[in-house]
Amino acid sequence: MNLTYKILIGMGVGIVVGSFFQLSGMDSSHWLYSVLVDQVFFIGGKIFIALLQLMVVPLVFASIVCGAANLSDGNSIGRLGGKTIGLYLLTTCAAVSMALVLAIAIDPGAGAEASTSEAFEPPEGREIRDVIVGMVPTNPVSAMAAGNMLQIIVFALLIGFVVARSGEPGARVRAFFEDFNQILMNLITLLIQAAPVGVFCLMSNVFAEIGFDKILDLLQYFMTVVLGLGIHLAVTYGLLIYLLVRVSPLAFFRRIREPMLVAFTTSSSAVTMPVTLRTVREKLGVHNDVASFSIPLGATINMDGTAIMQGVATVFIAGFYGIDLSASAYLTVILTATLASIGTAAVPSAGIIMLTMVLAQVGLPVEGIALILGVDRLLDMMRTAVNICGDAFVSSAVARSEGKLDMEVFEGRREVNAA
Ligand code: ASP
Repeated sequence: MNLTYKILIGMGVGIVVGSFFQLSGMDSSHWLYSVLVDQVFFIGGKIFIALLQLMVVPLVFASIVCGAANLSDGNSIGRLGGKTIGLYLLTTCAAVSMALVLAIAIDPGAGAEASTSEAFEPPEGREIRDVIVGMVPTNPVSAMAAGNMLQIIVFALLIGFVVARSGEPGARVRAFFEDFNQILMNLITLLIQAAPVGVFCLMSNVFAEIGFDKILDLLQYFMTVVLGLGIHLAVTYGLLIYLLVRVSPLAFFRRIREPMLVAFTTSSSAVTMPVTLRTVREKLGVHNDVASFSIPLGATINMDGTAIMQGVATVFIAGFYGIDLSASAYLTVILTATLASIGTAAVPSAGIIMLTMVLAQVGLPVEGIALILGVDRLLDMMRTAVNICGDAFVSSAVARSEGKLDMEVFEGRREVNAA
């Protein structure tokens, strides 16, 4: 049986087992719950996440150094970077605009019976200029220790660029990073074998804890976000995949099931990044020059699903408090949600924290976030899967336009070696 099916089964069984614990009303005071959910599933899930996460920093660094070193001329780096970042921003803008239209039409906030049991402490406001300044590392070692992706990307790009211009020493360093990159790819291939069990543990744990009653309370909000995510996935990506990657959207989605499932279960684009990278190279046929740069960057800055939630949440909170938003406020939401998605760390629930920035920009009460916290866990899982899909799409579209999409690999007629 292939791995994707095993992961799907792990996920399905995990959801059933977790829901059983939830519906049976057991909690940590019951011995079965405390042994299985609090210990076994918790440990299994955390170890699975850690195994993927331990690769992220070395992989981002090694793969971007290789990618930038191979694109030796500044023009190709500029063109590739421009197309990649341009598409990331455009799709995010489209996502949040569609989410706003949908939310305005449905108006989920009017008459919502929200449970405000969850307390929300607004974090320190982060200004957009700080996000921009914060992209350049002052100390790359501390950027790596802290896992600051944007800083690592900037540092790796600079090193890769200079490696290409350093003659003999550059060639030696490049050969080292290429080998190292290959070894990390082999490591992913090994670790991903643990995914069915890891995914099972994560799902059992999450579904044992998620309260379905909260979803019922906020059903309109919940369904509006789900609808927005569905439209973006099926219509926006479907159309763009057809037009720009020039392949069947269904075939495309089938090939990226693995990272989408991992994203859904881990709720983190960053943790999923190694799996996404492996998939776009080995199943979609994106050449390493493009994949090595666009996937780590996408995992960090491209979050269409997050932007959709932020658009709907803004309209929901405005509706709940009976505040009318002007046309210029909506424009501000589009702009800030797009920028916020760049500044959002690719970790669980980060989108909620960045929502504070969007709400503050249009003068809505930040405490309103408490209203939607109860249902965010499940939405986070879904939007992270959409975020990952966006990364894979942009990477393939850019590769296609550069003549770097290997259709033989896409069609499964040739296997690509991880290197
Ligand atoms: N969990 C999301 C991600 O990692 C970010 C968010 O929307 O909270 O892509």
